[in-house]
Amino acid sequence: MASGRPRVAVVGAGPSGLYAAAALVASETAVDVDVLDRLPAPYGLVRYGVAPDHVKMKSVIRVLGRPFGPGEVRFVGGVRIGEGGIPLAALREHYTAVVHAVGSAVDRRLGIPGEDLPGSTGSGAIVGWYCGHPDHVAAPLLDTPAVAVVGAGNVALDVARVLARTPDELASTDVPDAVLDALRLGRVRDVHVLIRRGPQHVKFTPVELRQLGDLADAEVVVHDDGLLAGGALDDLLETVTDRRERANLAALAEWAHATPGHATRRIHLRFLRSPVRILGTDRVTGIVVERTALGADGRVRGTGEEETLDVGLVVRAVGYTAVPIAGLPFDPDTGTVPSVAGRVVDAAGEVVPGEYVTGWIRRGPTGVIGTNKHDAVETAASVLADLPALPPPAHPDADDLAALLDAHGVRPVDWTAWLRLDAEEIRLGAARGAERIKVADLQEMLAAVHGLPAGGDPR
Ligand code: NAP
Repeated sequence: MASGRPRVAVVGAGPSGLYAAAALVASETAVDVDVLDRLPAPYGLVRYGVAPDHVKMKSVIRVLGRPFGPGEVRFVGGVRIGEGGIPLAALREHYTAVVHAVGSAVDRRLGIPGEDLPGSTGSGAIVGWYCGHPDHVAAPLLDTPAVAVVGAGNVALDVARVLARTPDELASTDVPDAVLDALRLGRVRDVHVLIRRGPQHVKFTPVELRQLGDLADAEVVVHDDGLLAGGALDDLLETVTDRRERANLAALAEWAHATPGHATRRIHLRFLRSPVRILGTDRVTGIVVERTALGADGRVRGTGEEETLDVGLVVRAVGYTAVPIAGLPFDPDTGTVPSVAGRVVDAAGEVVPGEYVTGWIRRGPTGVIGTNKHDAVETAASVLADLPALPPPAHPDADDLAALLDAHGVRPVDWTAWLRLDAEEIRLGAARGAERIKVADLQEMLAAVHGLPAGGDPR
């Protein structure tokens, strides 16, 4: 039945999409909002990006899930928009406006030889794996005592920390059983974090950096190598004024001065090292890095001096970019859809009517979860301001959307269906003393949402 109200689709049920949906329905304008996601589960990066041991950070789910109350926002999961799914143009026939909140799903590359060898992976795959993402059920190669993680952002810290934790530490988190089993069988003992600039340039946030020191059986080794010797870290602490940088330097200086302990695992922080090539024929056997130095202009330059680290797994955690959205402009340099106040604009700066963006696809892969709220509120305000002037959709009836999905062979997952999977995960968790255990296999997820016995046909 058509409600007569304008209809808005939010594509992407991650934090940015859900903040936008909440802002849309919180306004005085009567509007019907559907949140579509290609997966049968909501919460996007909160579910599939926040590290399993960051339990508090996941509690934002309680806020993000609120708009799915009866009669408010509709969840339409299991629906892929764009390539391999429903074309955007077809979706537009059902909605007055579309807000794209699809994030940045592609790992940036290093552009060095050996990057495609087995054992060389982007952080997206390994984070997706330990977060139980159905696209990343294959375990990384953990049959190696040493791993390199390239990058100095919070994702590099997450990966290093999860790999250095004991399986027992992770048993009470939501990691799938298969992840715990692979970590138990794994041989990783040394995680080398390779940082191309100096300790004052890391993008870590201090709380996350300090957390490396709280692991049950791992210690942090700050490699000094003469570059930081002679109290250089302490000197930096004297000169640097930025609070975040100072807090990071203080943590690093403490570790640099600490006497080695007896932990069986180590996280090595290696500064001023830029990856040059990944070694191996059938799989990764090492990584060659070039020592770098800071010039007077504050930029790093290569010194020509190379060194090799024997590692069997290389994880690049050097940021993300986005998949272009067919039918919308895209800036490959920033990995974003160009926009003004959330309104998509074309190359001439003209607004593309009815198309909006929010979150990482709008501003690039930066900021914490809360950063998306401000962004989403602004985008929602643009949508609400424009709605009276936008033409009504060709098919305003919600039943027409069901017919479109059916024509594409899609059986959508509504909120009640997701809650069945939610309950199943909580039930599974009880057996391991965890709040939940993620179901990572897509067929098992679909069986749970549709209330079928495991192995049943979800279609
Ligand atoms: P990021 O913060 O942008 O860090 C990317 C890192 O990669 C930088 O240290 C960068 O070094 C390095 N890098 C880029 N290209 C490189 C290359 N070719 N060789 C070597 N190093 C290279 O990105 P991120 O870690 O993916 O995080 C994305 C966003 O999510 C950030 O805003 C982050 O804070 C947030 N996040 C937050 C949490 C949390 O709050 N716990 C957890 C995960 C992610 P340069 O600085 O030298 O360019």
